[in-house]
Amino acid sequence: MDLGIKGKVALVTASSQGIGFGCAKALASEGARICLSSRNQENLRAAEAKIRDELDKPEIITITCDMRHPEQIRKLCKQVRERLGEPDILINNTGGPKPGSLFELSEKDWEEGFRLLTLSTVTLYRELIPAMRQKKWGRIVNITSVSSRQPVTGLTLSNSFRPGLLGFAKTVADEVAAEGVLINTIMPGITRTARMEELSRKDPERIIESLRKMVPMRRAGEPDELGAMAAFLCSEKASFITGTAIAVDGGIIRCV
Ligand code: NAD
Repeated sequence: MDLGIKGKVALVTASSQGIGFGCAKALASEGARICLSSRNQENLRAAEAKIRDELDKPEIITITCDMRHPEQIRKLCKQVRERLGEPDILINNTGGPKPGSLFELSEKDWEEGFRLLTLSTVTLYRELIPAMRQKKWGRIVNITSVSSRQPVTGLTLSNSFRPGLLGFAKTVADEVAAEGVLINTIMPGITRTARMEELSRKDPERIIESLRKMVPMRRAGEPDELGAMAAFLCSEKASFITGTAIAVDGGIIRCV
């Protein structure tokens, strides 16, 4: 199926590995022109090389940005504009916020969580949506977590900020829907990324047990499976989908 996004400019934040990387690779395989971004240039170069190995002449640039700092996000957007053109597609991803319970998290942790998850999203939307509206075409996909709908024990920051992001995304999606800018959210469940592989090596029994208890499909998701959904939501084929949140979680979320 041709997704109709060849030549579109896609900014994928937090994409040197894991789910962000899976999304960037899926968009690159559809011929989108990609900006990979995360904090570390060396990791970004390695990610770029992996995509170049797998695909035929993808167009990719890399720019460092720490999503906790709005001024870095603004600089990132400016550099993408200068080097690739105005983004048509945004995959709004970040690293995960610090885990911990109410009494383990400091005031500073709460501020960091807000900057990482909420303020970064607000800043990216303010930067990129005006041009998407003008062009009457834009696609934004937020990568959050099943915690947006169903709290995960011990992930207090994620459980607190992510439901609010769904409200924010839905509010903005309504405002811009008639102008061809479509905003959706993917809620990943347990996904096989570097962090999970590290946990599996340290404590394989715990991982197997949580997959058995929590995931009806009895396995972890792959970043490519998340990427496939993201590429679809960014495509011409998803032209009547906006303001929604889709779980790619093997069945973890229990509500109907
Ligand atoms: P990962 O650790 O494999 O990759 C995270 C990426 O974000 C890396 O490229 C890293 O360099 C980058 N990053 C981290 N902090 C950053 C910052 N401050 N600024 C810019 N880049 C930063 O993580 P992942 O598993 O792919 O997770 C991606 C998102 O999905 C996270 O928000 C995570 O909480 C969420 N999620 C993951 C899972 C899972 O099982 N993997 C489940 C639910 C939700």
